Amino acid sequence: MVKTGVNLQKLKEQNSFSILHVIREHGPVSRSQVGKILGLSNTTCMELARHLISRGLIREKGQGDSSGGRKPILLEINWEYNFVIGMILSQEGVSCGVYDLQINKKELVSHNVKLTGKEIVARIKECAFEAIHKSHLTEENIAGMTIGVGGIVDAAKANIMGSTHFQSREIIHIHDQLDSIFPFPLYLENYGNLMALAEKKLYYPQCESLVFIQVDTGIGGGIICNNKIIRGANGYAGEIGHMTIEKNGPMCFCGNKGCLEVMGSIPVLLQKASFGLLTQRDSLIRKFMDSDTVTIEAIVKAFQAHDRLAEQLFEEEAAILYHAALNIILTYDPEVIVLGGDIVLFGEAFLNRIQQSVQKTIFDVNSENRVIAFSRLTDQPRVCGAGIYAVESFFTDHVVYPDQTHIKHPHRIISPV
Ligand SMILES: [Zn+2]
Repeated sequence: MVKTGVNLQKLKEQNSFSILHVIREHGPVSRSQVGKILGLSNTTCMELARHLISRGLIREKGQGDSSGGRKPILLEINWEYNFVIGMILSQEGVSCGVYDLQINKKELVSHNVKLTGKEIVARIKECAFEAIHKSHLTEENIAGMTIGVGGIVDAAKANIMGSTHFQSREIIHIHDQLDSIFPFPLYLENYGNLMALAEKKLYYPQCESLVFIQVDTGIGGGIICNNKIIRGANGYAGEIGHMTIEKNGPMCFCGNKGCLEVMGSIPVLLQKASFGLLTQRDSLIRKFMDSDTVTIEAIVKAFQAHDRLAEQLFEEEAAILYHAALNIILTYDPEVIVLGGDIVLFGEAFLNRIQQSVQKTIFDVNSENRVIAFSRLTDQPRVCGAGIYAVESFFTDHVVYPDQTHIKHPHRIISPV
């Protein structure tokens, strides 16, 4: 029933949007099931589903079980209706994945190049067009592209505000330079946030608050609170790597001392191991090294063989990340904290040590409401996270009613969660 004064077109758009989401979440699902979930009449459901099918957004997919009459025809999302691009800019270069709307990978292109502030835009363009071409798609098939960076991002203006990866403290105006090149929506996001989103969407869909900590060459993170990515007023929220752990610690790129990144990133751990080997020459770490270079794998193998130096490094690293986890718990009290990056090689014992340290505090009373876990993302997780972000944006932004003859191309950033 439409009340006087309510815009009928708007109502149809909203109902189409809701139907699309129910089919996405519950599909394959019959029209009558969709109607029941949304409280819509069969006639409305039939009409709007017909429209969505004609637009190619959904499709019929087999028959469901009969409850007495004819078997109902089921509906599902047309996952190949459009494709998205997830792109990651890092110290290693540019990686670009093309995915369907169900995050099935169609193509992956990687260029190992050193990125500097001036070259970034040319590299983005080159890699994206190559990926589209190799996927046998055109720009019209692309619903959106998310560019993930390991720096501080001004989400609203789509600018990179500074990144250790590009050795830049200058603002890089991504949006201004790419706006006229790509005909589809562009999103720019810190990849800590992308990983947090990917973890939530793929593994913790019911959880409303999740913090992701990536421990690799640097330490980054992403925070989802009440189902929203937390960016803060200036894009600094989620910069977990720059949380102070030791106020008189080593100098960090950011201008502060003793940041988590300069205390506990993997290169710092390897450096500590190298120093340790100078005095503990019989350490098993040396035995597991392939060459003269210490690797995280060598430390992990030595730890598993109960090597004293490796155990000491393990304990120090666990203590540093415990402090980071505790700060996060006291600030956000998330349901889930996910650790990703090479640190996962330490295995469950590492998580247990952090959990044990939390249990010694008073902040463990409701610990059944909290999970501390390793990331399960394996295949190009950051690129995949960027793809997921673009898919979520597509389903959030998409205008589904026929009078809107084109898809909006807002070159703007919307948090899809
Ligand atoms: Zn710092």
